[in-house]
Amino acid sequence: MKVIAEANQGVLKILARFNKKAEKSRLMHFVVETPVEDGVLLYNLLTFEMILLTEEENRLRNDLEYLKNQWFVVPENTNEKELADLVKMFTDTKQDNLEAITGYTIFSTTDCNARCFYCFELGRSRIPMTDETAHKVAQYICDHAKGKSVNISWFGGEPLINQTAIDIICNDLIKNGVEFKSSAVSNGYLFDESTVEKAVNLWNIKRVQISLDGTEEVYNKIKAYVYKDTNPYYIVLDNIGRLLEAGVAVNIRLNMDLYNAEDLMKLVNELAERFAGQEKLSIYANHIFEGNIPMAEFRTSEEWEQRDVLMCKLEELIEQKGFAFKSGIAKKMKTNHCMADSGRAVTILPDGNIGVCEHFSEDEFIGHIDKDSFDESVIQRWKVRSAEIPECAECALYPQCIRLEKCANDRLCFTQRKNGKLRKVQRQMRNEYQRWIEKTEVDETEDLDFD
Ligand code: SF4
Ligand code: SF4
Repeated sequence: MKVIAEANQGVLKILARFNKKAEKSRLMHFVVETPVEDGVLLYNLLTFEMILLTEEENRLRNDLEYLKNQWFVVPENTNEKELADLVKMFTDTKQDNLEAITGYTIFSTTDCNARCFYCFELGRSRIPMTDETAHKVAQYICDHAKGKSVNISWFGGEPLINQTAIDIICNDLIKNGVEFKSSAVSNGYLFDESTVEKAVNLWNIKRVQISLDGTEEVYNKIKAYVYKDTNPYYIVLDNIGRLLEAGVAVNIRLNMDLYNAEDLMKLVNELAERFAGQEKLSIYANHIFEGNIPMAEFRTSEEWEQRDVLMCKLEELIEQKGFAFKSGIAKKMKTNHCMADSGRAVTILPDGNIGVCEHFSEDEFIGHIDKDSFDESVIQRWKVRSAEIPECAECALYPQCIRLEKCANDRLCFTQRKNGKLRKVQRQMRNEYQRWIEKTEVDETEDLDFD
């Protein structure tokens, strides 16, 4: 047995008051397992410890003393949800409540140069941020960052349609000595050579998320760009290459639906041929998200089953090609769901309205850049968590599961969504293990060097 990631000592201290002795033992519900070449990885989502067992040890795991001592194996009658609730109570720190705002999602425009049929912004107003508002946004950031470095995400519509607003904000922040770095959610069409140069040097851009819906024909049809006589698919692929060459990380998001799932497999193969070995390129797949309708509510359970099979295939291919996210396992308790309940991040709309969720560009605002106060009732509405469901009691994800009532993405829990999250944890476990192997190898090399 090998310890790959140490347990969180604070959590172990909280758990120390409980008795672990019993006749009959079983694996704790919060332990996730995944096979690797050298055995089986077990990761405890309550204590954050991860271990590697050989096949033999894994067969005998319920009797291993170390696993009993470290909460991988517990007495059969353990109510681990109670244990997790206690740990959560100790670790659920109070959020700052917008004292220093260090995360900004800025809508430079709500207009777009593409016309995707699934866009959640369809039917909403298409307005650009004026130069005057852009100056005010920069001033607002200066006033609210409280001397801290800020992260900006350029969002839209297509944020690059209104580069003037982005330029103004960045120039003003630089003049005022505010440290910042940025990212963008973009369709990638406008990242030509001069824009990439400006994005790196002026916008301090580190990452761009670009959605691709299929190979050439499918992509061009779905995106339905407003430009005539161009081949957007190849323009965007060239631009992805340009960003990577400039050292900007690119996350390609594949919007999967039943009609394009097979084509997305082809796309991953095409991307792998073109961008093989690009460390800064990652690809991930998501089910197409339609507006703010909760995911579970607009598809039948049969369709979800079908989708889950296709999603698994797609995720496997992405990982096999080496483009899956490389993030490791969580090491501490989660205290918020996303920017909406973080107390440290806001969205700023082209007209200066301030919100907390990027999917709400027309309502549910908490304030405006011209005012200094916030609407506390809206802030609190965004923090309301979804109620637990009976399945939570035995769900491996429970210690880290937070869902928000207002989040269409995550309000409802259903089998396929849960399976997707479990697969993500298993991928993170494999990444963590890989890093551990590499670190071990590095350590060994260093030892040899010292010899
Ligand atoms: S809501 Fe779903 S994913 Fe979260 S703990 Fe409950 S059963 Fe698990
Ligand atoms: S859609 Fe959900 S996850 Fe995304 S910002 Fe809004 S509340 Fe958060």
